Amino acid sequence: MRPEILFPLFKSITSLPGIGPRMEKRVEDLAGPHVADLCWHLPAGVVDRRYQPKIGEAKEGEIATITVNIGSHIAPPSGNKRLPYRVWVNDDSGDMALVFFHARPDYLHRMLPEGETRIISGKIEMFQDAPQMSHPDHILTEAELDNLPLVEPVYPLTQGVTQKVLQKAIRGALKQLPDLPEWQDPAWLEKQGWDTFNQALARTHAPEDLADLDPNSPARCRLAFDELLANQLALALVRLRMKKQPGRKIIGTGTLRKKIEAEIPFSLTHAQNMALAEIDGDLKAPWRMLRLLQGDVGSGKTIVALLAMASAVEAGTQAAMMAPTEILARQHLETLSPLCEAAGISLALLTGREKGKTREALLSSLAAGEIDILVGTHALFQDDVAFKNLSLAIVDEQHRFGVHQRLQLSGKGGAGTDVLVMTATPIPRTLTLTAYGDMDVSRITEKPPGRLPIDTRILPIERLSDMVEGLKRALASGARAYWVCPLVEESELVQATAAEDRYAFLKAIFGDTVGIVHGRMKAAEKDAVMQKFIAGDISVLVATTVIEVGVNVPEATIMVIEHAERFGLAQLHQLRGRVGRGSGKSSCMLLYQGPLSETAQARLKIMRDTEDGFIIAEEDLRLRGAGELLGTRQSGLPTFHFADLVSHANLLAVAHDDARLIIERDPELQSDRGQALRTMLYLFERDEAIRFIRSG
Ligand code: ADP
Ligand code: MG
Repeated sequence: MRPEILFPLFKSITSLPGIGPRMEKRVEDLAGPHVADLCWHLPAGVVDRRYQPKIGEAKEGEIATITVNIGSHIAPPSGNKRLPYRVWVNDDSGDMALVFFHARPDYLHRMLPEGETRIISGKIEMFQDAPQMSHPDHILTEAELDNLPLVEPVYPLTQGVTQKVLQKAIRGALKQLPDLPEWQDPAWLEKQGWDTFNQALARTHAPEDLADLDPNSPARCRLAFDELLANQLALALVRLRMKKQPGRKIIGTGTLRKKIEAEIPFSLTHAQNMALAEIDGDLKAPWRMLRLLQGDVGSGKTIVALLAMASAVEAGTQAAMMAPTEILARQHLETLSPLCEAAGISLALLTGREKGKTREALLSSLAAGEIDILVGTHALFQDDVAFKNLSLAIVDEQHRFGVHQRLQLSGKGGAGTDVLVMTATPIPRTLTLTAYGDMDVSRITEKPPGRLPIDTRILPIERLSDMVEGLKRALASGARAYWVCPLVEESELVQATAAEDRYAFLKAIFGDTVGIVHGRMKAAEKDAVMQKFIAGDISVLVATTVIEVGVNVPEATIMVIEHAERFGLAQLHQLRGRVGRGSGKSSCMLLYQGPLSETAQARLKIMRDTEDGFIIAEEDLRLRGAGELLGTRQSGLPTFHFADLVSHANLLAVAHDDARLIIERDPELQSDRGQALRTMLYLFERDEAIRFIRSG
């Protein structure tokens, strides 16, 4: 239960001044539904009104705050709406006009009564060599001067919400901040020179200059650290809970592994062996495995997974492997089939397409333990899927799933199922910590030997016809090519249409050797086309990003990506990874539509310069920020309000160590600091993690 002290922060934003039913939706879309969300809505700029010149010395373009006497009002000749209403003001250095369009004279007479003194603040303009000010931002009496914020935060806005409305609401939200207990270690705070949480938050909303907006300002660092600690502590609690459940000691005999190793025409790389040794260590240990296996596309994770599953089977138990798409699940089945057959392991497939009698039969042999390894899609999650004795669950290509699904799948085996998550998207270290901090990490950093580098070229779309000529020659000598159509974020339909158009264009040139797959086709249709491409019956595969993940056709050596400037680095890297998998020399054509933004240019250049997924991932984070990196929404990656994983990478490392230390000393968060930390977890809405303390 959320502590009472936080209740005011989790009230609806409609409790704040100026937010009625009409504003609610807009502000909610902008910041969030709760008072707290407005506290987290940070200024993106400042307006500095501290410049207080005389009229005669006021500089053009500056925001100025000036004390003036009000002179005469000059209304435009009646009927001429395009001319402004002017109010002349003066001080002992000169005079200037205040300019109002579409003025309401009675209102202006009230605000600016002739002969009185007022303080005005706004931008100085020059008109026919004389200063003037159009629509001052503020008009105040001298008595009201204290109300004028001399430095004003400027917040990111949305349609229909003005700066004034938002400022007022946020001021109201900040007033709701309760007197929070200190959850950080006092010695650490002192060493960093940080204020309390409330002071830091107040400072962030009352910036005095641009330096205060810097993520590295002390106030922002304090808040970022709190947020990162909440994230790391939550993951540490999940981890503690998972580790506490006794795992099973899976000790393989090595017999099946030997048979598999005899079948594969290569030996494992050093990196593969290292990863396998780490996995074996976890399998044998009495605790439960929670491990992330990171390895670039083509680094050979599948064989590592199979050898791990073989151990589970040797120990008389079952293993499951889940892929995010049907194509991938089928492909795993095909890769694994001959090896399993040779070793005498029984292997089956379960996707959404297995139905009726087939499915029933499959489920009953699964429950009877006649199936050793089950490969599938998220259909494996369905309630009636019951294993006899599942000891190892492997999740492939997992950046689309979050902590929830990890817990869900491991639940299938009852207590103690070992979980191995494999991801082909190399994730920067910082992001690995925030998203997978509950797991141990193995990295395959080396590719199998003999891979040829991929020749990557960047071409403007205007060179399309040259490229098609080149493709003609390559196809004539037996090459196979992917042709990826532009990413259209908004609509799968538009994306499919773009692909259809390109398909028609290429078919007119290359005839029946062209095929197409996109997200709007039925799974069976897609598979049929993929099969043709694998068999070589078609040699150009036009595709949307459905082929992004995992597809393996070693004979394909050409990758064309249209509108490459629309794709993120991680995605370009994934797509390019579809080629360069066989013995043939591969190339990748990045077709772009100019003009290129600076970021797009930087992205394409990185693609040309390196194939190392880990370097690409770090660059991607630097260029785009963590939020966008993998598409946060679908990826289950956490979002941060204060923390910036590029600027605060060092703080994250500290928070990570701190969290583990806290859990070691006070696993139930019972001490005074522990209690305060609970409040912090609730404040940052990590409620779920707290449940693990009690039920653990
Ligand atoms: P990914 O890590 O992308 O899942 P895969 O497991 O699909 O990579 O492996 C890519 C290709 O490399 C496969 O054809 C696989 O048989 C091959 N491979 C894996 N390990 C090795 C190795 N040690 N030596 C040579 N080829 C290997
Ligand atoms: Mg794979």
